[in-house]
Amino acid sequence: MTEAPCADPAGSIGFFLCQAGQRLRGAAIEAPRLEARRLLAHVLNTSEAALLRDPRAPVPADKAAQFAGLLARRIAHEPFAYLVGRVGFWTLELEVSPATLIPRADSESLIEAALEACPDKGAPLHVLDLGTGTGALLLAVLSEYKAARGVGVDCRAEAAALAARNAGRLGLAGRASFLAGDWAAALSARFDLILSNPPYIAETETLSSEVRDHEPASALFAGTDGLDDYRRIIPQLSGLMQPAALAVLEIGHTQGAAVLA
Ligand code: GLN
Repeated sequence: MTEAPCADPAGSIGFFLCQAGQRLRGAAIEAPRLEARRLLAHVLNTSEAALLRDPRAPVPADKAAQFAGLLARRIAHEPFAYLVGRVGFWTLELEVSPATLIPRADSESLIEAALEACPDKGAPLHVLDLGTGTGALLLAVLSEYKAARGVGVDCRAEAAALAARNAGRLGLAGRASFLAGDWAAALSARFDLILSNPPYIAETETLSSEVRDHEPASALFAGTDGLDDYRRIIPQLSGLMQPAALAVLEIGHTQGAAVLA
């Protein structure tokens, strides 16, 4: 399919959006126009609505160059969230980097499960997030339970530091601490709520290059059957749980029976 020429004047917002949309479509990006708009709004530090209102406004040269650089990375299938360094999870905006998995909307079901099991949002829960990454699960839970506090552990010090920054930005630093460690090895406390979205992809599984080539392998893969980290985590749980505690783990959609066993 040949694309229609872009109608807005060269160098204008509309022109860049049109051209970028065509190039992203050519690279088989699913929502090319939307991503072009989001990326340009990010570069110009404005809203998508503002771009649409003023398509003939010129894009300054330095911004155009920055946009071109990000666009090239997206065309090479680097995840959008890494380009802008931000992602939405639950009701929160989180910093994200290639040191961490990009939190997925799927994982919000862990937060829903916790809320369903413990509807008292004033409960002073002590929460543990194993493999915290950006801190997404712990911070989402702490944003709901205002008297809760918790710990997030990640094997990568860079992730623990990023999660701590997220806590600070969200005003949750007083109730959240983060440490680098090997699952629960360094912990002696017991918790009321344990959350974990561990790596659970089998090494042989086919993934999009977007995921496989850009997100940290240590956050994705867990041995030949994807169960290695559950084998490590599950035996540690009973020593980490208060008597009436709840543990909520994310698993792959085919792994239910194996993880239960
Ligand atoms: N707990 C984080 C998340 O859900 C990171 C998970 C991971 O790195 N496997 O996004």
